[in-house]
Amino acid sequence: MSKKNYYIGVDLGGSYTKIGLVNRFGKIIAKTVLTTNRYKRNQLIDEIVFSVKSFCLKKKIKTKDISGIGVGLPGLIDSRKGIVRYLVNIPGWKNVHMKRLLESKLKIKTFLDNDENVMTLGELHYGAGKNVKNLVCITLGTGVGGGIVINGKLYRGTDLVAGEIGHIPISESGPKCNCGGTGCIESYIGNRYLRKKLKRDLKKQKSLVKNLIKKSNYRLSLKLVDKAAKMGDRFAIEFWKDVGIKLGIMLTGVINFINPERIIIGGGVANAGKFLFGPLGMTINKRAMKIQRKSVKIVKARLGEDAGVIGAAVLAKERDIV
Ligand SMILES: [Zn+2]
Repeated sequence: MSKKNYYIGVDLGGSYTKIGLVNRFGKIIAKTVLTTNRYKRNQLIDEIVFSVKSFCLKKKIKTKDISGIGVGLPGLIDSRKGIVRYLVNIPGWKNVHMKRLLESKLKIKTFLDNDENVMTLGELHYGAGKNVKNLVCITLGTGVGGGIVINGKLYRGTDLVAGEIGHIPISESGPKCNCGGTGCIESYIGNRYLRKKLKRDLKKQKSLVKNLIKKSNYRLSLKLVDKAAKMGDRFAIEFWKDVGIKLGIMLTGVINFINPERIIIGGGVANAGKFLFGPLGMTINKRAMKIQRKSVKIVKARLGEDAGVIGAAVLAKERDIV
């Protein structure tokens, strides 16, 4: 049997860069975590190279036993050519031929894609989407992103930029969005907006959330709203209900249109649990078309903080970029 049973998964994020040695069962067997902004671009690439070499030493394998490197990045990626066009929150990454750089230093085939696609691949192969053919992944964070799997394969779109689920509009007017659009779902349920809304609404209403904020040295966090909802706080329950309904309206469109078997929801906001998923499910029950509604399951993402590394390893394993 070939010894080439290992993959490298790199999750290059705005805050942390995680590098993992992953076996053929999708299990991380060695991992390094770096603080992204402590390194300049080329230094960071060198650190990735260094980590791969140290994994090999530590696990007593050769670099040629690694059959591929996958990298997920937060931005515009030309996955076909292996070029980073632009990263949203990390300066110094314009038109970087990262595939070529890593391949020349390590002699291992390298594949790049944006972080949402990579996470979707991870959930599809080893997480909440295992054995599912048609699914949509959505991550609720500062941005709202997504990935689409059709017939077991990632759908990237004509210009490789499909999956911008956060920029599906849910209203004719509404807030202007960074993407140039108006009334995008992201401007109603993205973290930045939710924090602003929380601040504004708390001024007018009584809520346990206020006490919890005071207790945590006036640091406003959406986690506190989860906590208050669990304690039965009306304001907090209503807060997540509103998010659930808006997300439900948008996903109704996705469900009617794509007829997926599963919708996987990840990101911090998904931790609101039943306070979010309850109203979300009810909205979809009420509004989606019957046949589509019946077959779709809405579930929480399963891979958690390792999703990026595992997904990147899947990208290297699948090599389905054409
Ligand atoms: Zn938008």
